[in-house]
Amino acid sequence: MSCVFCRIINKEIPAKIVYEDEKVLAFHDINPQAPFHILVIPKKHISTLLDLDESDKEILGHIYITINKIAKELGFAEKGFRVVTNCKEEAGQTVFHVHFHVLAGRVMDWPPG
Ligand code: 5GP
Ligand code: ZN
Repeated sequence: MSCVFCRIINKEIPAKIVYEDEKVLAFHDINPQAPFHILVIPKKHISTLLDLDESDKEILGHIYITINKIAKELGFAEKGFRVVTNCKEEAGQTVFHVHFHVLAGRVMDWPPG
């Protein structure tokens, strides 16, 4: 299996996991861009946002509910945070297993770079 995030799901490579259930995994980014930088991923391998279909509606809702819980549990819900998904090369996607970056703990610039 070449997908690095599938290997993290399968515990073939370690990660600092903050939440796990049968559908999703959340863990700290190895190269954090903010004091909190969590990646939330579906356990199902989906390459990009463009590969989502009608059957993935439930998992998408579940991902956002998971982000909501993590924000409250890790303590950055009150001040706020940013959720980012990069789709394909021009947006900067480097890992082709769809993922939601959750960034918090500092003021975010807009527009993003
Ligand atoms: P992308 O650039 O595709 O939007 O985001 C991929 C993210 O995955 C990057 O922020 C990168 O630091 C993170 N990442 C890549 N490989 C690993 C890894 O093996 N472990 C963890 N925890 N994060 C990783
Ligand atoms: Zn994968």
